Amino acid sequence: MAAATPLSALHAAETAHFRAANPASAALAERAAPHFLHGVPMHWMRDWPLPFPLAIRAAEGCTLHDADGHALTDFCLGDTGAMFGHSPPAIADALIAQAGHGLTTMLPDMRSAAVGAALAARFGLEAWQLTATASDANRHAIRWARALTRRPVLLVFDGCYHGSVEDTLVRQGADGATLARAGLVGQVAHPAPHTRVVPFNDADALERALAPGDVAAVLTEPALTNIGMVPPLPGFHAALRALTRRHGSLLILDETHTLSSGPGGATQAWGLEPDLLTLGKAVAGGFPCGVLGMRAPLARRAEAWQPPAGGAGGHGHSGMGTTLSGNPVAIACLEAALAELHTEATYARMFAAAGALQAGIEALLARHRRPWCVTRIGARLEIQFRPTPPRTGAEAEQAFDDALQACIHLALVNRGVVVTPFHHMLLASPATGEAQVAQFLAALDAVLGLLEPVRP
Ligand code: PMP
Repeated sequence: MAAATPLSALHAAETAHFRAANPASAALAERAAPHFLHGVPMHWMRDWPLPFPLAIRAAEGCTLHDADGHALTDFCLGDTGAMFGHSPPAIADALIAQAGHGLTTMLPDMRSAAVGAALAARFGLEAWQLTATASDANRHAIRWARALTRRPVLLVFDGCYHGSVEDTLVRQGADGATLARAGLVGQVAHPAPHTRVVPFNDADALERALAPGDVAAVLTEPALTNIGMVPPLPGFHAALRALTRRHGSLLILDETHTLSSGPGGATQAWGLEPDLLTLGKAVAGGFPCGVLGMRAPLARRAEAWQPPAGGAGGHGHSGMGTTLSGNPVAIACLEAALAELHTEATYARMFAAAGALQAGIEALLARHRRPWCVTRIGARLEIQFRPTPPRTGAEAEQAFDDALQACIHLALVNRGVVVTPFHHMLLASPATGEAQVAQFLAALDAVLGLLEPVRP
C-alpha cells in the first residue's frame, strides 16, 4: 500500500470526523439507499465530496439545519437557486398567499401582464416566455434561434454548461473538433454536426467558426462559471457582439449564474446587447421557474413563424412544452422576486459580503503562501488553484486538483461552512453578514493551516 501523503492523511481524519459528527444523516442515507437511484432523489446530490450526503431538515436565510442538529452557514446556496437566501420572506409570503388559489391551470394568471412588463423593465428585453427550469429556457432559445435564422449550428464555448441541454453537452477536442462530454448517459446522437465549440475569450477562433454562415446562435454565459470562473477579457464582449452581428448569428446570453452581477444581471451591469436572454434558478427566488427573453423584432418574427410545409404535427407540437411552465405559483413568486429581490438594495448587501469575503480570502492566501486567486463576479466568487483568473475553460480546468478540492471542501463542512461541491465557488446572499464572513474566514484559515506547507 502506498504511504499516506499528508493530504490523504488529512482527508482520512476529516472523513472520520464527518462520520462521527453526522450519525443521523448517515442513518437516513442508509434508509434511502434501496429506494432512490444512488440513494438520493437525484444522482448529482452524491457529487458532494462527502462520505454521505447531509440530510437537510430546514434552510433559512444563509443557514442549513441538518438532521444531526448542526447549523451550517451556506455559501453554496443551492448552486444559485437560493442566491437571494433560503426562503426569502417575500417568496415565502407569495407562496402562502397563492397556496389555496390554484397551483396550475394551463391559462395565464391575471398577474402575467404585470410580470412580463417587470421582466422587460429589469432585464431590458421586451418579450418573454416562462419555463420550469433554466435548462428548458436554453432549450427553447436554441429552437427559436434555429427556426428564425433557418441555420442549423449552435456555437458554444469550451467548458460551458447550460443545463441538461443535449446540444450544449460538448467539449472541444485537441484538433478543435466537437466532442460529446464524457459521462453522458444513453447518448446516441453525436453533437458534432450541429454544435461548434471554440475557446472563450478567443475572438479569432470565434470569427473563423462563424465565417461559414451556418451558425444560428452563439450561446454563452457572460462569464463562464461552470468550469471554474472564466471572466471575459476586456473587449471580448464587444467583439462577440460585433462578430455575431456581422455573420448574422443571434446572441443568446445565459444569465442563470451571472445574475450575481447585479439587478438585471451582467447584461445590465456590463451594457451587453443579447438578442435572447435566459435565466432560471434564483429568478423567482428559488421556486422552480425559468425565463426566456427576446428583443421585440425577434419576438414578432417568432409569432409570424410558420412550420415548413409538409411536416406532421400541429398545435402543441412545437417541441417546447412542459405543462407546469408559467403556473400561477411561479407567477406569484416571479412577481414578488422582481419587486423585492432584483433590487439595488438587495445587491448592495450581497456585494458588501462578497467584497469582504474576497479581501479576507486574498489576505489568507497571501499569509498561507498559496499562489491561488479569487475570481469574483458580483456576489459570486471562487478560489482557483492558479495565480490569476483563467482566460479559457481549458486553462481553468488545468488548475483543477480534485483531491485537494475535496479535502478542503470536507474540512470546511466539518467547521460549519458549506461551499459549492464542484469547485470552491461561494455566493453571498442578502442574509450573509459580517458574522458569516468572519466564520468562513476563520474556517478557511484553520483548513489552510492544516495543509502541507508550500515548498519554496
Ligand atoms: N445555465 C447555467 C449557466 C447553469 O449553471 C445551469 C445549472 N447549473 C443551468 C443553466 C441549468 O439550470 P437547471 O439545472 O436549473 O435547469
